[in-house]
Amino acid sequence: ARELIQRSEKLSVAGELAAGIAHEIRNPLTAIKGFIQLIRHQMPISYYETILSEIGRIELIAGELLMLSKPQAVEFQRVDAKELIDKVVILLEAQAAAHNVELVKQFGSGPLFVNGEANQLKQVFINILKNSLEAMPSGGAVTMEVREEADTDEVAVVVRDEGVGISEEKLRLLGQPFYTTKEKGTGLGLMISLAIIENHGGRTQVYSQLGKGTQFYVFLPASRQNRPAGQKARE
Ligand code: ADP
Ligand code: MG
Repeated sequence: ARELIQRSEKLSVAGELAAGIAHEIRNPLTAIKGFIQLIRHQMPISYYETILSEIGRIELIAGELLMLSKPQAVEFQRVDAKELIDKVVILLEAQAAAHNVELVKQFGSGPLFVNGEANQLKQVFINILKNSLEAMPSGGAVTMEVREEADTDEVAVVVRDEGVGISEEKLRLLGQPFYTTKEKGTGLGLMISLAIIENHGGRTQVYSQLGKGTQFYVFLPASRQNRPAGQKARE
């Protein structure tokens, strides 16, 4: 059976706080790393490696939480969704190849602009595409589709994978902080992505079938620049 969730979470005070703490943790961490490197020959190599990898994990979590910082309204710009997905594909090409995954692009014609903060939106699609790659241990194809949703005046980005899929009970847990099924996962990627999408006035839908794959839909309000003057549209 196909399964569906629709969820959005507000960029909350808690998110702002988390981003602030993540920011404050970074500087002392850099200092600790520097001093540990200085005394690395005074300890067994396995201790040194464990310390470095645990610091790496703190950096990973702090880096993800930093994405919860609220962008200033003035940073919202016209973003070409096709260009954005092009960049995401380039960034993850090597990782896709390492997973034996072919990345396929399907772009609708015409301008497909949204209003937003390009770096945050890029992070959203990096997170979603990464999850798809990580769900495909034996390779396959991931399709990245960008198209117009004329009825609702939105731009849709659809990421379809042929991965392990998500069961109905687990589907409900997507986007909850720290929910992960991965040994090295943080369980923060989707929580942050959903917060960013919400902050852009967008929405998401996820369909998944165990053993078959997952389809992740992101809908963002279309920029009015997609339409000829005079037609109804949103800014
Ligand atoms: P992380 O990737 O660190 O585990 P995420 O928030 O990105 O955290 O994802 C949470 C969980 O959602 C993953 O651990 C995985 O179980 C599930 N998930 C997300 N996307 C997919 C997908 N495309 N296919 C299968 N499972 C997925
Ligand atoms: Mg992830």
